[in-house]
Amino acid sequence: MNYFNFVKYIEINPTELCNLQCSFCPRAHGYPNQNLHMSLDTAREIKNQLDNLHFKGKVIFAGRGEPTLTKNFDEILDIFLENEPNYRVQVTTNGKKIDDLKKFFNDARVRFSYDIYTPDESEANRIIEKYNEYSNIRLIRKPDYGLNFDQFTKGKSVRRGLTGSKEGMTNRAGFLGENTFDEFEDNACAKLVYNMYIDWNGNYNLCCDDWNPLILGNIFEENIEEFINYNENLNGYRKKHFCENSRKGLPACQTCNRRSPVTGDAREDYMNLIRMNEM
Ligand code: SF4
Repeated sequence: MNYFNFVKYIEINPTELCNLQCSFCPRAHGYPNQNLHMSLDTAREIKNQLDNLHFKGKVIFAGRGEPTLTKNFDEILDIFLENEPNYRVQVTTNGKKIDDLKKFFNDARVRFSYDIYTPDESEANRIIEKYNEYSNIRLIRKPDYGLNFDQFTKGKSVRRGLTGSKEGMTNRAGFLGENTFDEFEDNACAKLVYNMYIDWNGNYNLCCDDWNPLILGNIFEENIEEFINYNENLNGYRKKHFCENSRKGLPACQTCNRRSPVTGDAREDYMNLIRMNEM
């Protein structure tokens, strides 16, 4: 058992470019829009490493930019879909450029999570009607009414007629405002356990919530297995969260309002692993 066994989601930020500025996003609050993209070499390196590790979770293209704006994004997807991988692939998108990826529509190997941000009901209905027929496109309404993130979390999301999902709107580790608590009762964050975040240039970042991204390493210098098991900085975060039940003094975490506890057997197994590595 090692830390990689716990990882369920590899989140990849393939570009720093976006074509929207939603009110609840750091991009409407000073985060720069940059024409930076993942190279095919970087994509292949990640893919090869995941294959070597027999990764069985989910590779999610999302991050701080809009994935469908990534240069050669269809080729990047093709790379990740080569050789019938054990993992699943998801693209989270605002849908503006989704038609560029038409060749993947109804392709069971890829799942699109299409966030509909328009507050215009007829436009939203048009989008739902147009894409509802594709079995691999999940449509989620997250209309941008010009609210801040806190108000947004109290709004309704619609997933093919369902309501209620808050979709994890947070203060982006402090980028959108201060947290309003001292500490949670349980400060240990599941993002450290189940998620990994890789930036467009192969840098390892802490998590999707950190919009002043901490650079913890790079995929070309430290492979995924080495990073997750031996990176000292990451281990420091782990120990503080799980052994001291605290986020104090940790850049990003100390200002983050995400409450995301780890429960059950997984918690116990994870704690045992930390203890074992301490011996
Ligand atoms: S506490 Fe916040 S910043 Fe820290 S790992 Fe969790 S989600 Fe990321």
